[in-house]
Formats: sequence, structure tokens, C-alpha cells
Amino acid sequence: MPSPKRRPHSPSTPSGHAPRKRFGQNFLIDRGIIHAIVQAIDPQAEDVLVEIGPGLGALTEPLLARAGRLHVVEIDRDLIARLRQRDTPEKLAIHAGDALAFDFGALGTRLRVAGNLPYNISTPLLFHLAGFADCIYDMHFMLQKEVVERMTAAAGGSAYGRLSVMLQYRFYLDWLFDVPPESFDPAPRVESAIVRLIPKPAAELCADMVCLEKVVATAFSQRRKMLRNNLKGLFSAEDLVALDIAPDSRPEQLPLSGFIALANRLAAKV
Ligand code: SAM
Repeated sequence: MPSPKRRPHSPSTPSGHAPRKRFGQNFLIDRGIIHAIVQAIDPQAEDVLVEIGPGLGALTEPLLARAGRLHVVEIDRDLIARLRQRDTPEKLAIHAGDALAFDFGALGTRLRVAGNLPYNISTPLLFHLAGFADCIYDMHFMLQKEVVERMTAAAGGSAYGRLSVMLQYRFYLDWLFDVPPESFDPAPRVESAIVRLIPKPAAELCADMVCLEKVVATAFSQRRKMLRNNLKGLFSAEDLVALDIAPDSRPEQLPLSGFIALANRLAAKV
């Protein structure tokens, strides 16, 4: 009697696609979570909606159903080929390529950006997107929970750093809810969370951006050192005292307002 055929071991999802670790592919499978994300986004027919990393379409489908039209940015050629069979380009505009190099500004001036982001590039991607804040209405992202902790951290704690200061300067941040590993296939080793980012109006942006980036990167270059040491190439201890900043404090103790004061002092110097 012939032995029953063994199914070859395959790490594929039920869709037949083998998840690629290098593209951070953890596909959402929990319908309740997918529904909660779409509810949080609340897409409207007039929205210019952009999804980063549509993957197998877990969010793409309900977003399209609500908005009627969707831009997606995807890097994986196999997934792009599947997406192309799904809908007409009028409904689903597929931008094949790397979101880190994508010109989001080319899509409109009031973008609603969303996605279950590839965790391996989430920090550079957030910085890249921050550069397009002027043409963004809002953003909703699934991220590693630890990244959301860093984004929303207040001064004084170990999670507070360059990501917290730069994003809190440019956006209102709202940690919406947590998502457990079993909501994905394959399950990531970490907890996840959904966060909303809304750009602050221009009237609230009172720092010279180039100087702010420089001051924040320099201050956090060695987070255990005192500000007077990290910033000595830019400011004297007297400069810091004049701004009401203790020269022997550590970068993680300085609130956003302190970094803004430093950026504006630097802008006045150059
Ligand atoms: N949205 C799907 C879901 O929720 O099931 C997939 C999310 S999966 C965590 C991340 C997606 O981003 C994958 O489809 C992956 O191929 C895509 N991706 C990874 N790196 C990318 C990049 N640099 N640019 C655009 N897409 C990328």
C-alpha cells in the first residue's frame, strides 16, 4: 500500500505566501483587532488614504470597502503581483517600492496614512514620515509596543529619547490600544500597540527645525553623560544656565520645551 503523501513542511500562511522576515512580515489575522483598527481610522469616501505595507490585504480590504479608493506602498514583489490581481488601479493605486524612499508628498496635501508597519524599519520610517507632516492629516500605525512607549514617553524616564522629542514636537500622539502576539501569523516575539499621530498646527511649531534636529541628536549622542558635556560643541555652561537648564542634568531629564529653547538659541547664534 502506498504510504500517504506527506505535506512538505511549509512556513506559509494559509494564503500560500511564505512570510519574509527581512520585510518584517507578521500578518494580522485577528478579525476583532482588524475591525478595531479600521474603526479607529474611520475612513471616509473623500479621504486620500495611504496604507504602508498592505501585505496580504488584512487591512487593505476593509479600508477599501470604507474609503472606495486606496494608495498602497509595498516592497515585496510577490505581494505586489497578488495585489495587482485584486482591484483596478482606479480603486487600488499600487506604489511598488521602499516606503523609506517614497515621496508621500506626491500623493496629496491631506493624507491619511495607516499601516501595520514592518517593525525592523519602524523608527527610520517614522522619521521619514515626519518630514511630510505638512501634507498629512493623520496617521494610524501598528508598532512594537516598546516603540510606542518611546514615542509617547515623558522626560525623566529611560524610554525618553530622540524619537520622543522629535515626534512630540511635530505631532499629537495618542496610544490607542495594545495588540497581543497571537493576533498575527507568524506571531512576533513582542507585544504591539496602535498609535495615532496628528500633526500639530504651524502656530504651535516654534523651533528652528534644523537646529532642533541638531540639538536633540547631539544631546542624546551619549545619554548617560551630562548635558554640558554632550552639548559643549554648541553651548557653554553659561548658555545653559541662561536658558534655565541645569548643565549637570542628563538629556533624558530635559523636557521638550528645553530642547525648543536650545534650538532657538542655536538658531540665533548662527
Ligand atoms: N498589512 C499587512 C497585515 O497587517 O497583515 C502586512 C503587515 S507586515 C507587518 C509589513 C508589510 O510591510 C509587509 O507586507 C511587507 O512586505 C511590507 N514592507 C516591509 N518593508 C517595507 C518597505 N521598506 N517599504 C514598503 N513596504 C514594506
